[in-house]
Amino acid sequence: MDTVHLLLLVAALLLASPGTAVDARAWTEEKNYHQPAILNSSVLRQVAEGTDINGMWQNDLRPLLIERYPGSRGSYAARQHIMNRIQRLQADWVLEIDTLVSQTPYGYRSFSNIISTLNPTAKRHLVLACHYDSKYFAHWNNRVFVGATDSAVPCAMLLELARALDKQLLSLKNVSDAKSDLSLQLIFFDGEEAFLHWSPWDSLYGSRHLASKMASTPHPPGATGTNQLHGVDLLMLLDLIGTANPTFPNYFQHTARWFNRLEAIEHELHELNLLRDHSWERRYFQSHLDCPAEVQDDHTPFLRKGVPILHLIPSPFPEVWHTMDDNEENLDPPTIDNLNKILQIFVLEYLHL
Ligand SMILES: [Zn+2]
Repeated sequence: MDTVHLLLLVAALLLASPGTAVDARAWTEEKNYHQPAILNSSVLRQVAEGTDINGMWQNDLRPLLIERYPGSRGSYAARQHIMNRIQRLQADWVLEIDTLVSQTPYGYRSFSNIISTLNPTAKRHLVLACHYDSKYFAHWNNRVFVGATDSAVPCAMLLELARALDKQLLSLKNVSDAKSDLSLQLIFFDGEEAFLHWSPWDSLYGSRHLASKMASTPHPPGATGTNQLHGVDLLMLLDLIGTANPTFPNYFQHTARWFNRLEAIEHELHELNLLRDHSWERRYFQSHLDCPAEVQDDHTPFLRKGVPILHLIPSPFPEVWHTMDDNEENLDPPTIDNLNKILQIFVLEYLHL
């Protein structure tokens, strides 16, 4: 081998080895540079008209307005309901139940998270999440705690999003490899609520388990050095949603640009007159509010492991929070309808659909 060829070989080896290492790492950084594909007003109008609050109310929400604390009959019924609503759709959702047993103040209990994924082998997923368990309360004057905002409505909003965007989400499986590297996942956590008093041991049963499990599951399948948490672009957690006039502050600077998108979409829809009973002075997403103290919720175990978070929980909490009045009567359909529109547009823009 002459000198020129030797130099070429050395150069090729130098380029090849660090090159592959960079490639192997690069996809985990893509979320930091990801940009939305902003939709024009005619598409915004179509999406706003495509969502159906009445259908959501009857078909998704009502069946969830039952007592459904972990291990109860209602919990089983809620789980079946969520899975049935997803299974009948056309998009290629892969459903998985993540069951765990944990010590609680009442002894060992079983919990089951529901994970619904499009394109499970795609490297990256936008994740929308909520909890489907209701807090355990003793019955009071024959009244039962149904946790309408906490979190039956967020669950119904995710189901309605999957229904309304079914056709667009179906198209995800037909796109080229480069684009199919980004897809969507829905997580319905069990055991968010404390049985007795909120503490690190009595709360977040499902999310603590799933965050650890995802951190130790190689991703994409068979990968070394990267796990399922690297594959989470952004975890959007919805909680305590459904009463009138909620205000959502931005809790995290690291995802401020995505929070700003929610605010911008709300502004666009408002300008186009596509939101009901909506005033800009009382808009939902308020990025100018001071960053409030973090609220412990299902995102916490993921945040601690470095996952980017958007926490969509109002501040202050709804007045009905953890009372028997957190029921259907105190929900405000126009607000939920408006938030459905904003969320659906956000997802389409994020996924470039
Ligand atoms: Zn609660």
